[in-house]
Amino acid sequence: MSLLQVRNLVVEFPGRRGTLRALDDVSFEIAPGEILGVVGESGAGKSLTGASIIGLLEPPGRIAGGQILLEGRRIDNLAPVEMRKVRGRQIGAIFQDPLTSLNPLYTVGRQLIETIMTHLPVNPAEARRRAIQLLGDTGIPAAAQRIDHYPHQFSGGMRQRVVIALALAAEPRLIVADEPTTALDVSIQAQIIALLKAICKDRGAAVMLITHDMGVIAETCDRVAVMYAGRIAEIGPVHDVIHRPAHPYTAGLMDCIPDMAQDRERLNQIDGAMPRLDAIPAGCAFHPRCERAFEPCLRQRPELSGAGATRSACWLHMAQTGGGA
Ligand code: SF4
Repeated sequence: MSLLQVRNLVVEFPGRRGTLRALDDVSFEIAPGEILGVVGESGAGKSLTGASIIGLLEPPGRIAGGQILLEGRRIDNLAPVEMRKVRGRQIGAIFQDPLTSLNPLYTVGRQLIETIMTHLPVNPAEARRRAIQLLGDTGIPAAAQRIDHYPHQFSGGMRQRVVIALALAAEPRLIVADEPTTALDVSIQAQIIALLKAICKDRGAAVMLITHDMGVIAETCDRVAVMYAGRIAEIGPVHDVIHRPAHPYTAGLMDCIPDMAQDRERLNQIDGAMPRLDAIPAGCAFHPRCERAFEPCLRQRPELSGAGATRSACWLHMAQTGGGA
């Protein structure tokens, strides 16, 4: 059974000039132990999808349709107090800025020990032992001493390791990591990504990794969902999506990955910008930027459908498979 199921998720923002739809019919699953990457430009809806899953959607944003199930249990309609328990115990969260997850006034040990004792049936001595172990597992040297330090006494990379330790403290089944390496130096980024991967493998935790960086996805994930204008444009195994992108937007993102093999940066940009929520074009939302757009793209929205090993929302392959508009 899937660990996480997101079914037809719709998120809306009511405003004075009407309601804006920020996520529209988003569906995907994550299996136990799997790393699913969610990629797209800023404004695509990746972080909103993550926030919906962890129950931290900023008002006035609201889930207006669909369901989110964790281990078969609906979590999108839980009372805040119940959702807080799920978030601590079953879902761990890692954000771009470690300081949003850490209280500057308390030692990291206190924060870890409190989290462990809130969610697991252990005494303070055992919780401290586990906290030291977690800090060591996440690559913090001299963990037995560092446990009594405050967040500001750690470097950015070490702080993000503390946040990962905190996210793992209650032994969650799912970790939602939103741009966990974006604020870090490139060399530290690679270490944090390697750490997330190893933890996922060792502990059997699933990870939803939200990033704008297709390179990070390529190195880390089993599957990837590419988002555009609040919908999934393409989803499938990373290898297939990267080497045989079915959707022109995915192909454009691939062109944005620095090409190390040629020892130079091949940073093509996709012309144009992601549409604003109040100006999403009719038909395929990508059509104003798509070099391959043809007549059906302008009038009817393509739904996700099979395109080889992946699923893609594009009229090109739907026309090839006989699913034309
Ligand atoms: Fe381009 Fe049309 Fe495919 Fe949209 S549906 S990505 S406009 S070819």
